[in-house]
Amino acid sequence: MSASTVTRLVIVGGGTAGWMAAAFLSSLFPARQLTLTVVESAEIGTVGVGEATIPPIQVFNKAVGIDEAEFLRATEGTYKLGIEFVDWLRPGHRYMHPFGQPGQAINGASFHAWWLRLKAAGYPHPLSDFWMSEVLARKNRFDFPSSDPRTPKSTLSYAYHFDAGLYGQFLRRIAESRSVRRIEATVGSVALDGADGTVSHLELTDGRRVEGDFFIDCTGFRGLLIGHALGREYEDWSHYLPANRAVAVPSERVAPPVPYTTATARAAGWQWRINLRHRTGNGYVYVSDLISDDEAAAMLLANLDAPAVGDPRFLRFTTGRRRQSRHKNVLAVGLSSGFLEPLESTSIHFIQHALIKFAATFPLAKDDPVSTGIYNRIMGEELEQVRDFLIFHYHANQRVGEPLWDRVRAMPIPDSLVEKMDLFRARGFAIFPNQTLFQEPNWLAVMLGQGIEPQAYDPLADTAPLEEIRSGFDAMRRTVHQVADSCRPHEAFLGAAPAATRSRA
Ligand SMILES: Cc1cc2nc3c(=O)[nH]c(=O)nc-3n(C[C@H](O)[C@H](O)[C@H](O)COP(=O)(O)OP(=O)(O)OC[C@H]3O[C@@H](n4cnc5c(N)ncnc54)[C@H](O)[C@@H]3O)c2cc1C
Repeated sequence: MSASTVTRLVIVGGGTAGWMAAAFLSSLFPARQLTLTVVESAEIGTVGVGEATIPPIQVFNKAVGIDEAEFLRATEGTYKLGIEFVDWLRPGHRYMHPFGQPGQAINGASFHAWWLRLKAAGYPHPLSDFWMSEVLARKNRFDFPSSDPRTPKSTLSYAYHFDAGLYGQFLRRIAESRSVRRIEATVGSVALDGADGTVSHLELTDGRRVEGDFFIDCTGFRGLLIGHALGREYEDWSHYLPANRAVAVPSERVAPPVPYTTATARAAGWQWRINLRHRTGNGYVYVSDLISDDEAAAMLLANLDAPAVGDPRFLRFTTGRRRQSRHKNVLAVGLSSGFLEPLESTSIHFIQHALIKFAATFPLAKDDPVSTGIYNRIMGEELEQVRDFLIFHYHANQRVGEPLWDRVRAMPIPDSLVEKMDLFRARGFAIFPNQTLFQEPNWLAVMLGQGIEPQAYDPLADTAPLEEIRSGFDAMRRTVHQVADSCRPHEAFLGAAPAATRSRA
């Protein structure tokens, strides 16, 4: 007998969040312990964007039992080694936030502390020259991380670009093969138990009803259960992250696809470009009081590197989070729980994180306030950390004279972020309290990229003679480039048949 009285779980919504939930939970719980039902509406579509991910997705896919090559073929996927930020600091400037790390710690000091010391002595080579993921990405090559610490490949890390709609379908096949029941119907209303305020069942518009012990709300921005039925408030963060619209359009494939996402700053927001196998995903995230929808679409179409495929699609959102994304017998996952703009590709990650934390705090009964409390705390802290990271990208800009960029440079920022910037500026320190998803290498890449110059370095990096360090760095730089040159081109690695190519406009 299970320790939990929750044996019937209903997932409402069949977007990326709904099918990730079904695939993950069905891989953890046998059907005799937990029955899983997905209700998805044919009338209400999915958000239909979301193509870039971050490395922890590998953990999720492994947990679900996914074969990587099969998954990449099924989703038109490519590899991703980082994000290139173009014009964010100022027009004409570019930097990369690569995954992995630049070298290993030496004598207890971070690799970048030694580099800061060399730089202070006039060393000309940027840190990016030692960052294997970035060197590989810029050469449009790819390889897997190595477990041998003697090769720079041991510092690699990677994620994927893919078609999120195809990923949902792929996960659906897995979930259905594990006895997940699918009901195609629209939920008309959500019935509450008058005694304890939990959700008792769903009323479908075709007259059927679906009962359950616990419900996962994956209804997207609607938040049908968590918001409409249970009244959990939405905390608006648009004073920190003012973008509230996006317009997206795919374009024809340009060959060869690069293994990184590009995020280019624009007057009223920024534009993404994501190379998949069969096409390129593009979108412009913008602030609606600075540019009209028509102007935003025109700006996007004018900045494609190949002809558009189809018409631009508009999306509206409010950056923020549900104050409690778990309440009574409902867990909100995906867009129903909140949304941070896709600058660091974190939404799909938050779906996975929510599911992993939910499994770790699985309710013992329909209404389990102890597990619910700890779950909400864990998720809240993680979201705030990532929010700070995104705010930083905007805030630390030198695009003087442009209304959006002047506004975000001058805005008050959370104290937690002020502290991080002070620590980094004072001594290149990027290990912060409560650091979870984004760690030292992530902050380091973006802090340096956004022009924060450390005024000192860790004194532990004074523990070896300068000349010794210089020759060690020179040798390492040569090795990183040689190893990168020996890796296969990204496209060859994918095994993708080269499609008809177009020259860049
Ligand atoms: C502009 C933009 C760019 C993005 N880019 C990225 C990215 O690069 N990387 C990333 O990780 N994430 C990205 N995301 C986020 C990503 O798209 C979403 O996190 C992800 O697709 C999850 O969506 P969802 O499943 O929560 O909601 P949706 O896709 O909206 O799905 C909602 C589901 O609920 C169902 N539903 C709704 N109401 C009912 C009802 N009454 N009855 C029955 N069913 C119902 C719908 O039919 C649908 O199946 C982006 C989001 C936006 C807006």
